[in-house]
Amino acid sequence: MNWTVNLKKEDGKIKMNIGVLALQGGVIEHINHLKALGCETVEVKKPEELDNLQGIILPGGESTTMGRLLKQTGIFDKLKEKITDGFPVWGTCAGMILLAGNIENNVENYMQVMDITVRRNAYGSQIDSFLTYKKIDEICDEEIPLVFIRAPYITKVGSDVDVLCRVDENIVAVRQGNMLATSFHPELTDDFQFHKYFVDMCYNIFNEKVSW
Ligand code: GLN
Repeated sequence: MNWTVNLKKEDGKIKMNIGVLALQGGVIEHINHLKALGCETVEVKKPEELDNLQGIILPGGESTTMGRLLKQTGIFDKLKEKITDGFPVWGTCAGMILLAGNIENNVENYMQVMDITVRRNAYGSQIDSFLTYKKIDEICDEEIPLVFIRAPYITKVGSDVDVLCRVDENIVAVRQGNMLATSFHPELTDDFQFHKYFVDMCYNIFNEKVSW
């Protein structure tokens, strides 16, 4: 890992600095959830804003637009390299599509860092948006709301990928080391447990490599 680390300590507590990719899509909801958990946040619009973060969320939106803007802004290559080096990332919905190794119904693939195959707009023709509840053992002790909006799901995972949640047999949440991906949108609910899980994940990854 060759990225620099700058963990801030305030009142004896570690202040996590988490970015949200802010080129398009549902940015502010993630920012508000992270702030509610006591994180500092950065809306990432330029490559240099990737420095000094302890993790980044790729939000929901339109993956084709975000993929194009990632390349136009020069963020694409730097972000892909950091993620490959172990930088913590969480992709929600369109963000998951950006991380996927393979998109089965799209001509273009994006960062291809996760060993997952996704189907875009997988629920599209039957039902565009829906809400369901699930207990996800890795994340929480009781059911939490899961909001799906023109969501993809995962049709295939590699052996390094942990499946965290399925809905009707379809895989909708996974983790592969420093990478987390969900088909649904915890930022659109008033539940904070998924964000807390991600912030803890960022902390643990950094804690392993930093002494202060
Ligand atoms: N359908 C969108 C796409 O393919 C994703 C929808 C979302 O992020 N809510 O990019």
